[in-house]
Amino acid sequence: MAAGSSAASPLWTPAALARATGGRLTAEIGGVSIDTRTLQPGDVFFALHGDNSDGHAYVAKAHERGAALSVVERSRVGEMPKGVALLAVDDVLGALESAGRAARARTRARIVGVTGSVGKTTTKEALALAFAADGPTHASAASYNNHWGVPLSLARMPAASAYGVFELGMNHPGEIAPLVAMVRPHVAVVTTVEPVHIAQFDSVEAIADAKAEIFTGVEPGGAAVLNRDNPHFARLAAAARAAGITNIIGFGEAEDADARLTRVRLQPHMSTAMADIMGQSVSFKVGLPGRHIVQNALAVLAAAKLAGADLCLAALALSSLGPPPGRGVRTPLAVKGGRAMLIDESYNANPASMRAALAVLGTTPVSGRGRRIAVLGDMLELGTRGEAMHRDLVPDTASADLVFCAGPLMRALWEALPESRRGAWAPDATALLPRVAENLRGGDAIMVKGSNGSRMGPLVRTLIERF
Ligand code: ATP
Ligand code: MG
Repeated sequence: MAAGSSAASPLWTPAALARATGGRLTAEIGGVSIDTRTLQPGDVFFALHGDNSDGHAYVAKAHERGAALSVVERSRVGEMPKGVALLAVDDVLGALESAGRAARARTRARIVGVTGSVGKTTTKEALALAFAADGPTHASAASYNNHWGVPLSLARMPAASAYGVFELGMNHPGEIAPLVAMVRPHVAVVTTVEPVHIAQFDSVEAIADAKAEIFTGVEPGGAAVLNRDNPHFARLAAAARAAGITNIIGFGEAEDADARLTRVRLQPHMSTAMADIMGQSVSFKVGLPGRHIVQNALAVLAAAKLAGADLCLAALALSSLGPPPGRGVRTPLAVKGGRAMLIDESYNANPASMRAALAVLGTTPVSGRGRRIAVLGDMLELGTRGEAMHRDLVPDTASADLVFCAGPLMRALWEALPESRRGAWAPDATALLPRVAENLRGGDAIMVKGSNGSRMGPLVRTLIERF
């Protein structure tokens, strides 16, 4: 029989060869990847099953791109390319969770978990800035907040981090509890509770209860940071207490907030403010416009202080906060008669973030004959009250001179608008695009927002290409 190896009995394993030679395996893993398109040389590749794809089909590609190791299912090893380093496990997602838990266990970092109906990513990014001013900081990328995003973000945390910030999201009850059990935050932040994904819940109270699952994983002696101005504050505070948390910090404008806004000046591109953060007074500037961003900043300052960071450095860092993609990024357009300003809010929408974006549009300067224009796509996942929730936005659209609407739900808003503010309605974003494009003129400010599924993003990209 020819000498060689088979899957059942390899000629050598790296570990056996290391033992035999007294050598030391030095393969080092520089990062954790689940996607070969963004994999960097030296990363470990976890071959997860996605909704539409099976990571095992990409193992060869991962190693072409320089993966150090791939984590695959034991039963699939025979299908894998020869000569690549594999870690065979029973369950790849389970292995990623274990790696996440181990990364959490080996660090002495102070950890903050952020959940809430809106503002999670904005708050997480601001916290990461605040902590980075004080020590080595690791934060979840993008909105990696679900059953794979959270363990992936944890597994990526360097052992020497001083601070870790993790976003936790959910669309259904019961999803936050297993995520927070992995994260084990010292500080849990709930930005706000609003009717988002309400189609999957019986009531807004049920949404509050699902967010409150975050308290079940808080480390002993940890704290909860809650929105004092939100109607569900008391419900959340009770849930935090029931989970054994005694340090409950309310942030907001309310008189009895522990992290309280004392002065604010909202400006078109940023805000300046003063606050009393648990007895310490700070002034700060946030680099993004809108009262909602100032609210998030109060949560950030409270959480930073609770996690032991320097409050003054945290306050200073907030001035460099910029917009994540699709959440307020501004691009000038060269249109008929001059320059118009496009505000891209196309990443997503729900009633709370729609109101916030319309309020910011109202403070955006226009020049000459310019108008404030809102281009709005359907807000999805709102269930049976969907149409009513669109119609309810009529008073908020008063910040715009002209409103363009796309989609069947936005039709309800459109029909309720006063004639003077009506731009055009179309069944979808593609059909609405030419109506918007032909109407633009120099001096305008145009804010585009809708749920991701309403495809306002492509509308934004086409406007940028065309103008
Ligand atoms: P997702 O669930 O999609 O990950 P998220 O909770 O991470 O969303 P962000 O990405 O921070 O939320 O913000 C989404 C939108 O909501 C943006 O348009 C942002 O300007 C707006 N927003 C941020 N914070 C608040 C807030 N506290 N209240 C209302 N709107 C907000
Ligand atoms: Mg997010």
